[in-house]
Amino acid sequence: MRIGRTLPPAAAPLHLKNIVSGVVGLFGGGESVKRFEEELKGFYGVRHCFAVSSGKAALVLVLQALNELLPEKDEVLIPAYTCYSVPSAIVKAGLKVRLCDMASDSLDFDFGRLEEQLKNPRLLCVIPTHLFGVPADVERVRKLSEHRGIFVVEDAAQAMGGERDGKKLGTMGDVGIFSLGRGKAFSTVEGGIILTDDDSVGQAIRNRLGTIPGYGPLDCLKLIFYAIALLILIHPLIYWLPKSLPFLKLGETHFDPLFPVRRLSSFQAGMAKGWEGRIEELKEIRSNNAKEIAACGVVPPVLTSASIPALIRFPVLTENVDAKARILHNSEKMGLGISDGYPGPIDGIEELAIPFDGRGFPAAKDIAERLISLPVHPFVSKGDIRSIVQSLKVQS
Ligand SMILES: *Cc1c(COP(=O)(O)O)cnc(C)c1O
Repeated sequence: MRIGRTLPPAAAPLHLKNIVSGVVGLFGGGESVKRFEEELKGFYGVRHCFAVSSGKAALVLVLQALNELLPEKDEVLIPAYTCYSVPSAIVKAGLKVRLCDMASDSLDFDFGRLEEQLKNPRLLCVIPTHLFGVPADVERVRKLSEHRGIFVVEDAAQAMGGERDGKKLGTMGDVGIFSLGRGKAFSTVEGGIILTDDDSVGQAIRNRLGTIPGYGPLDCLKLIFYAIALLILIHPLIYWLPKSLPFLKLGETHFDPLFPVRRLSSFQAGMAKGWEGRIEELKEIRSNNAKEIAACGVVPPVLTSASIPALIRFPVLTENVDAKARILHNSEKMGLGISDGYPGPIDGIEELAIPFDGRGFPAAKDIAERLISLPVHPFVSKGDIRSIVQSLKVQS
């Protein structure tokens, strides 16, 4: 166990004034949430926006709404390497997970395999995902899906504030979702956003929202307490402490379809006050850190252009499993905040019982084995970047 300055892998630091705004928001009640949704609608130029309790809750509502529109279709196609919350949400929505492999050394779909998978007549929707904030090619997925009547749900959980070719991430599919969880681009402790321009999808989601609960007074109190704890514990001088407490299970990802689906609370909506400016600020800081890392010769896997997109963590493919293990071990010892990706490819989740098609998902497996991510959040100093880059070079 390390005692002393330790970087968290990701952070969108909270300030006391955000918690105060949250409490002010509580007094505004439902109006605070409505105002937040209206601001989002305006900024993203979409006709419908819904704020809920998490990114996975947003996915559940979207998937159920789509399934209501096309009840004969019940399968959802996702990248074979993604956040475990995604298959959890699909199962919670009562639908089946289908996987598509990725291009080796990219974090997007293998488009050859995608075209084959899209021939599946039971496919309700496909979920292109901007992992770590690296923009996926949603347009291309859309062109392949449109004439087949397959919805495109853009998983921009990690990409609020990002863009691709001048278009805002989250607005390129039929529906888009963001996460406001801790460790995402922008956080209200927990939360999720749904955006859509499609009236029938918007109406189906609105109908569902009418049937789900909000946060009760005790839930709000818990959120306030959690926000205060987060404000203090995420600081690098203190982070070693919560990190060393095994029952907090920090940074672990699980497959777990049992989670609440609620409307966002007015406390969270209040905490989001000034979100537009705050996201810009965070983006600027992260992007400067990412540029600094890149200037030291560390490159993320495939980039569509010479510029580095708005990343929430800087993904790097190590040479092999052993190199990854050594780098992570060293980072633990030195508190560098370098983190492992997801525990493995999605077909490794036993509960899903993904049938083996003879080919498996070799690229996703390779990514899972070799991927690490470097911190770029506001607590990362120039000195940290030097140590992080140095630790990668020594190890390889
Ligand atoms: C975090 C995340 C989600 C789920 O968001 P939560 O708010 O944590 O439920 C979904 N997809 C991706 C890619 C994510 O990173």
